[in-house]
Order: sequence, then C-alpha cells, then structure tokens
Amino acid sequence: MGQKISPVKGTRDVLPGDTYLKKDDPWIRTGHLHLIEQAARELFPLYGYREARTPVLERTALFARGIGDATDIVAKEMYTFEDRDGTQVSMRPEGTASLVRAYVEHAVQQQEPDTKWWYAGPMFRHERQQRGRYRQFTQIGVEALGSPGPRIDAEQIEMLDRWLRALGIPFEMHLNTLGDAQCRPAYRTALQDYLRAHSAELCEDCRKRVETNPIRVLDCKNPQCQEVAAGAPKMEQFLCAACREHFDGLRAALGRLGVAHVVDPKLVRGLDYYTRTTYEAIATSGLGSQSTVAGGGRYDGLTRELGGGDVPGIGFAAGVERLALLVAQAGRELAVHPLVFFAPLGPEEEARADALALELRKAGIPAEVSFRRSNPGNQMKRADALGARFALVLGDAEMKTGRGKLKELKTGAEHEVDLSALPAALRRLAP
Ligand code: ATP
Ligand code: MG
Repeated sequence: MGQKISPVKGTRDVLPGDTYLKKDDPWIRTGHLHLIEQAARELFPLYGYREARTPVLERTALFARGIGDATDIVAKEMYTFEDRDGTQVSMRPEGTASLVRAYVEHAVQQQEPDTKWWYAGPMFRHERQQRGRYRQFTQIGVEALGSPGPRIDAEQIEMLDRWLRALGIPFEMHLNTLGDAQCRPAYRTALQDYLRAHSAELCEDCRKRVETNPIRVLDCKNPQCQEVAAGAPKMEQFLCAACREHFDGLRAALGRLGVAHVVDPKLVRGLDYYTRTTYEAIATSGLGSQSTVAGGGRYDGLTRELGGGDVPGIGFAAGVERLALLVAQAGRELAVHPLVFFAPLGPEEEARADALALELRKAGIPAEVSFRRSNPGNQMKRADALGARFALVLGDAEMKTGRGKLKELKTGAEHEVDLSALPAALRRLAP
C-alpha cells in the first residue's frame, strides 16, 4: 500500500463541501471564495480597475528592493531559492512590487496617464501558522498609479468600503497619514527619542526597531509596546503644509462620499516610499487577533525605487481567507445546487433521465442524475445532500404516462408535470 502524503504546513485545501467543522474555525469552502471574488470582479470595474496577472515567481531582488530588506517579510518570511541557472528567485509574498515591476517593464506610464489595476492570487510567507495566518494565502488587491490624490485615495477607500459592505463584513475603516520625505524625518527623530527613553519597556524586536525602523514599533502587537506607543508623539503634529492639505482633503472627500472612518495614529507602514495616506479595514468581530482584513496605502516613491519614473501610486490588499472566515460565519456562500435531481429506477428510465437532464442544462437549469440503482428513499437522501430543490423519480408509471412528480425536498410538496415540457414547468415553479 502506498503512503499517504500530508499537505505542507500552513497550506490548506479549499473544497466545495465541508470536510470538518471546528467551533471557531469554520471550514472555508470554494463557495465562500467565489462570493468574495465575484463581488470584486463585479465591483472593481465600475471604478475603472482592470485585472492584471503577474507571475508567482519573481527575482528575489524585486522584493528586497520593493518591500525593503529590513521588513519581516523579506528578512525571514520569504520562500527563496536558487533556480537551476543560478538566479535567486522568490515566491511572491505580496502583489504590489510585481504590479509596479510590470508597470515599469511595459512602460505603461507612456501609454496612459492613469492606470488602475486589480489582481487576485496566492501569496507565500513563511510565518507561524495560526487562525487567519497561513503560509499560502490569497490576496485580492488594487493599485492606482498616476494620481497624487487625495480624490483618488478617497475613491479607492470608498470602493473597498463598498466591497466589504456587499460581503456583509463587520468592520471599521481606520485611516492615518505618514507624512512624506519633507516632514517625516523630524517625526522619526522625535519618535526615536521618545522610544529610546522607554526602551526598557519594549519587546526585544522593538528595541531593535527603535534603531532600524522606529515607526514599526507603533504597530507591534505586544501589549507592553502598545502601551508605550499610546503615549508616543503623533505624525499628525509634525505634518508639513502639503501633507496637512492632502490629509484634510482626503477626509473631506471621504465625507462627501459617505465613508465612515476612524483616524488611527497607530496605523503605519515601515518603509520610506510609503507616503501620506495609509488605511486598514479592521474586522470588529469574528477574527480574534488577526483582524485586519485589508491594508492599503500610498507609495509615491516605489515606482522610482523599481527603476521607473516618479509616478505616484496607492493600493490596498485584502486577505481573502480572513474575509472567507467572516463570510462563512455569516453563512453566506455562492454555490450552485441542482434545481432537479432525477432518480431513475431502471435502465430505460436512466436513459430518459439523462435526456431530461441534458434538456434542462441546455436551458441553463442545473440538473443532476443519479448514477446508482437504489430505492427512492436513498435517492432522496442523495438529492438532499446535493442541496437539490426538487427530486423527480422516474419509474414504470412515469414512462407510461409521460407525467411525473417534482417533489420539493424542503416542504414535501409535489407538483405533477408533463415530462415533455419540463423546462417550462420549472420556470413556473421556480422563476
Ligand atoms: P498582519 O499584520 O496581519 O501580519 P500584514 O501587514 O503582514 O498583516 P499586508 O502585507 O498588508 O499584511 O497584507 C494585506 C492583508 O493580507 C492583511 O491585512 C491580511 O488580511 C492578509 N494577510 C497577510 N498575511 C497573511 C497570512 N499569512 N495569512 C493570511 N492572510 C494574510
Ligand atoms: Mg504580516
């Protein structure tokens, strides 16, 4: 006998049905993912976002330069290996660097002044596995390149807000500004002075961050560090006039678009090319500590960093598995169930069932036939398990009279129908 091979840690299978159920870890089904993806596919184009697909495998240098060597992602979370020709390659840990690479590579800037792209796909980070944190996970994200804001920022945040609302996600939109190259250095210094004075109260990682990337201390999840962060100087007090105007303009635009939001000084991105607007959609229940479902921000310095011109940009990425956990808890799903399940009792009836199912499918009606000979009781169980709305038993009587009974599985109600006009009968019964 062969040996069963288990999946890689931190990865999961997504199947159409449940394979197990744990109380606080509802199983994610493909129907949950479809609901989330479908909503994005329908909504994002209404705002002019078009889909872009880039490879999973990229040169390691793209992320080292694009995300920054000093980030956790690049320093310890990336799946990196040497390809057979000696090239250092990585499985992408996020989408923005790849999309901006493609934007620069194909000189998109010369073809259009404004570019709006969305993407969906798997990302890979070697992190500690926990609920809502996996090593292979899915992001749906968007990037808008070419506009310095703040109206585009507001438009994008409103789109995220609308998408999450359509999915029934309980969340709050948090918003902050990070300043820019003009005003952030003075803030960084003030923050560093403050943090050095509290260094003894910080976790080990944060003590290092004080010197390398002090802004990152603000979003450390350690309670001690959070306490220190609460008393830290705030970026808002240091904003230069242009950044102040951008932030005020963004908040006014969000007000006009009707997007409720909370200003949250703890919200940061640790890299220099991140400027001004930063935002996160945070679930207000149902996810525990992994509660950020989407993170976004303006990255006006990234295109230049990756060898392009000075092109301002802003984007967000949402964690699809986290959204799916919430959608699953709310019992929402996009799944197709058969409208009719045919249960034929003999060989002749089977041929008739196959023909009737084909007729329904041609009419766009989902139908399923039984491939097993078994009694009507078992057939009904199978129909029920498939989530069929009606079952139709085909036996001698039905073959002789050309009439059958559509049995509604939920209520037990029976509707006698003419088998030669089934699609029409179903349209009447289930418009
Ligand atoms: P976190 O603080 O949760 O580690 P992050 O800052 O690393 O998030 P981003 O890089 O901004 O996350 O990614 C955007 C979104 O992708 C996150 O808000 C989250 O919903 C999702 N995400 C990030 N890492 C994972 C992961 N390992 N597993 C599942 N979802 C993830
Ligand atoms: Mg992370």
